[in-house]
Amino acid sequence: MGEGVETRDGDAGAEAVQQSEQQSDTVVAIPAGTVVLAATPIGNVGDASARLRALLEHADIVAAEDTRRLYDLANRLGVHVNGRVVAYHDHNERDKADGLLDNVETGATVLVVSDAGMPTINDPGLAIVRRAIERGLPVTCAPGPSAVLDALALSGLPTDRFCYEGFLPRKHSERVQHLRMLQGERRTIVFYETLHRIDDSMDDLLDAFGPNRRMALCRELTKDYEQIRRGTIAEIRDGVREDPPRGEMVLVVAGASDEEAASVAPNTLSVEDMAVLAIDRALEDGLRIKEAITQVVGEHPLPDGSLANRKQVYQAVLAIKR
Ligand code: SAM
Repeated sequence: MGEGVETRDGDAGAEAVQQSEQQSDTVVAIPAGTVVLAATPIGNVGDASARLRALLEHADIVAAEDTRRLYDLANRLGVHVNGRVVAYHDHNERDKADGLLDNVETGATVLVVSDAGMPTINDPGLAIVRRAIERGLPVTCAPGPSAVLDALALSGLPTDRFCYEGFLPRKHSERVQHLRMLQGERRTIVFYETLHRIDDSMDDLLDAFGPNRRMALCRELTKDYEQIRRGTIAEIRDGVREDPPRGEMVLVVAGASDEEAASVAPNTLSVEDMAVLAIDRALEDGLRIKEAITQVVGEHPLPDGSLANRKQVYQAVLAIKR
């Protein structure tokens, strides 16, 4: 453990590194006494880097989201995993982080890999990074495939500024609230999605952002059946109904235009302001006051995307009338 054939100066001082000869001429340093997060292929095994191969072979401990999938990957890469393999997933990552870091402290290389893509991106890894930082232990990364950047780059939408939103909430009401909060977002927005929810999510995207925004649905990235569907939200929604996409997918949605952003400027209306608007609306449009309140409240979501309490607005209406 921690046996080195060369030393180098790093942030954590002189540390031993072991070197691994790849089948090509590449020499890969294996940093001792370090946590290494490594990206794994998201579909195409050819995307495995020389560093990933060397780390799989030489790390003292491999903390893997799913140990079966780890061995499967190693088999496909023709690599033998020599170190100790431990299961490291969403349910145990906090509990296991300190034990793994105790090994780092005594010179071990601890490799963290998830089932696919970058650890920590909707995958385990963050807990050990945080604890390593708190304990002053070295942590580094062997970067590589991640569906976020792959989809963004292929979407054809602006890449200079983007935000990653992970998976949308499962519950419809929470999803709608979340999307409302994003209505004025100017940056390109990237969502992860599953085939079980794509239909509902497309309806909610259409409601929140309207039919005309550009978007891309990117599925089975890097695999044989990779497919990118580009179009307006309405076109992609119709396509999803006619030809339901299978496999793994990422949605990339254009950010709001100047006009869209201006029309959904954060609501600064108080409950009393909304009550006044509702009274006016009821008079002008001949509505019952409760209907007018529902409309006004729906048109003015709060900055977090939730809606004002209609009962409170109604009480304010009564107070004004009194
Ligand atoms: N850590 C991974 C990464 O860096 O991309 C993400 C893991 S997350 C649990 C799994 C989700 O990533 C999938 O539901 C899908 O939205 C997206 N994803 C992963 N691989 C993909 C692929 N080959 N094509 C499209 N989307 C993919």
